[in-house]
Amino acid sequence: LMHLTRKLIEIRTMLLSIDQSDALKLPSIVVIGSQSSGKSSVLEAIVGHEFLPKGNNMVTRRPIELTLVHTPSTGGKGEEYGEFPQLGLGKITSFSQIQQTLTDLNLAVSAAECVSHEPIDLRIYSPHVPDLTLIDLPGYVQIASMDQPETLKEKIAGLCEKYIKEPNIILAVCAADVDLANSPALRASRKVDPLGLRTIGVVTKMDLVPPEQGAVILSGNRYPLHLGYVGVVAKQSGRKPRGEGTGPLVRRGEDDYFGQYREYFGASSSKHGKANGGTGLMTGTDTLRRRLMEVLESSMASSLHGLSNAVQLELEEASYQFKVQYNDRRVTPESYVAEVMDTLKARFRDCAAQFAKPAVRARLKAMLDEKMMDVLEQLYWLDRRAPELGALAEDKRLRPEDVEPYWRHKLEAASSLLTKSGVGRDATLLVADGLRALIDAIATGEPFTFHPRAAERLTQFSHAILRERIGLTSDQVENCIKPYKYEVEVDERDWDAGRNRAMDLFENEVTMCEGKLKEIRKKVGGSRRLNGLMGYVRGLEERAKQRRLVGDESGTSEEEPESYRYPPAQVLDARHAVLYSDRLGILKLRLAALRSKRCKAGPQSEVFCPEVFLNVVADKLAYTSTMFINIELLDHFFYQFPREIDSRLLYDLDRKEIIEFARENPTIRRHLDLQERKDKLEEVMKQLNSLSTLRPDSQPSARRQ
Ligand code: GDP
Repeated sequence: LMHLTRKLIEIRTMLLSIDQSDALKLPSIVVIGSQSSGKSSVLEAIVGHEFLPKGNNMVTRRPIELTLVHTPSTGGKGEEYGEFPQLGLGKITSFSQIQQTLTDLNLAVSAAECVSHEPIDLRIYSPHVPDLTLIDLPGYVQIASMDQPETLKEKIAGLCEKYIKEPNIILAVCAADVDLANSPALRASRKVDPLGLRTIGVVTKMDLVPPEQGAVILSGNRYPLHLGYVGVVAKQSGRKPRGEGTGPLVRRGEDDYFGQYREYFGASSSKHGKANGGTGLMTGTDTLRRRLMEVLESSMASSLHGLSNAVQLELEEASYQFKVQYNDRRVTPESYVAEVMDTLKARFRDCAAQFAKPAVRARLKAMLDEKMMDVLEQLYWLDRRAPELGALAEDKRLRPEDVEPYWRHKLEAASSLLTKSGVGRDATLLVADGLRALIDAIATGEPFTFHPRAAERLTQFSHAILRERIGLTSDQVENCIKPYKYEVEVDERDWDAGRNRAMDLFENEVTMCEGKLKEIRKKVGGSRRLNGLMGYVRGLEERAKQRRLVGDESGTSEEEPESYRYPPAQVLDARHAVLYSDRLGILKLRLAALRSKRCKAGPQSEVFCPEVFLNVVADKLAYTSTMFINIELLDHFFYQFPREIDSRLLYDLDRKEIIEFARENPTIRRHLDLQERKDKLEEVMKQLNSLSTLRPDSQPSARRQ
């Protein structure tokens, strides 16, 4: 039957890792007693080592879940060691180190908090311990002193109350020299277990009362307990045979004491099996251990049936949820990581279409169109002689070569403004910014919203690839468009296409300006109002111009009273409207020029139609830039990026970090949690089923009958 307790202790540990739900708990022995009742001494006597925190001001501030695991003593001396599974410190063979660790863990609970409900998990493996689970709780405080506020008393009582619930067994420690009526341990036990069915009394300090008095206490006649009282002498002081206090404890004193008063306590001693038959009194630490084993065993055995049912129910629920929510699909943190990388690559591949050559070229063209408009505005539209150019185009007799050199210079200047505007750098940056925006969009979308650190890495290394290529690419592009800085050859086809594009561009621009004007008109309240406003603004501008011509810089002194006629916001709107409408005028004139016979004629008309010529130049620049950006930047990036994902995104995660990473995603976390719960419950169920052969009530022979 020994095997059963041990198995059940393992199962209990597993259940605790699933959750703390009471339904799934197997009984444990809970040790309570007032401060100085000898509680620590009893526990240490059971373990055979000093390992609990000591010191005047040292009260246990957290429950200690103490699991004793009996290990077979191989050969001569079996190894004894402790483990704190929560801390992952590995095997600790020095009991003074265990003591130190417990002290540190206790001290980590702040004085303000007094006690913590969070248990410390300690396992001790030794050939000298029985298989037992004990929970050591803070000792009841008798008197509230200065540094132990009243709340401490209540907090400890509350903590104990939580633990002494069913099905736990209560080990009530009382000192023989204190009236049992005053024992806080027995009082607490009686509240939850009035018949004393699951309470064992341990009477310490038996050596401090006369043996006949001790025997009366142990007989339990005054406060009967179903599981009885065990008397011990577990004196701490003077128990250290040698200087070092952490060797196995010697209980010589106890044996001597009870041996000495055999007539009162009977022949019970550690060497003889059962509790003393003669007087029925139980004495000695060995008797206590055996008693605890028996009690825990039978208590566990009787919980077994209920436990199996509870676990079965939980398992069914977990399996059902797993089926419904995840269709029985299993995930592992590793598979999730692989999935994230695949998603990332796939998304990147999908977006790569945005960077196909025609798309890039269109983007660069749009950028260059804008530059071209700026050049046109700067060199032509703001030129006072601009209207002349329109008139020249109308003149049917005029041959292109007869046009004034002024206009030829203009055209050359415009072309070189465009070709020398830093196309290499601007085009490269435009594409690089596009790539950055793409990566940022991926990095801020699911599932990276859950993985901020991975997202950070992703942006970092992709930006690094880009940074590394940008300089090189823009130099290369600049170099390749160099010939256009000297000469641009335009053939008939180029010209026709350029003219069409220029007309489209201008038409769009016209639509845009008209739209803006309409907006402003609506805003200021109709066209009459706007006309008035615009007239006013034009007047102001005219007068300002006059003043500038005269050299009068005095400014605002003779500000017209009219200026109060319109609110400043509307005056500003009107200024914009003036700009749009002036531009609209020019655009319409130029559109007419573009549609003219002269412009249709072909490249020889380039002086008359700078828009077409510049458009062809812009197109050639866009084409060449696209080609080289594609080779130097895009190809490189699209080759490098997926490889960097493999080698840099999650490459250096160890198993623990992979789990952490996967659990950052709440969906995956829930999935993993449920899956793990189900697995653990299955394992527990399997273990419980394998125990059924050990259970007295289900022996195979019994079943056959
Ligand atoms: P705790 O505060 O309940 O954990 O009590 P301790 O185990 O620290 O014991 C309190 C004091 O009682 C210590 O000074 C121990 O040496 C002493 N003590 C414990 N058990 C016995 C015993 O059986 N006999 C005697 N004479 N003293 C004991």
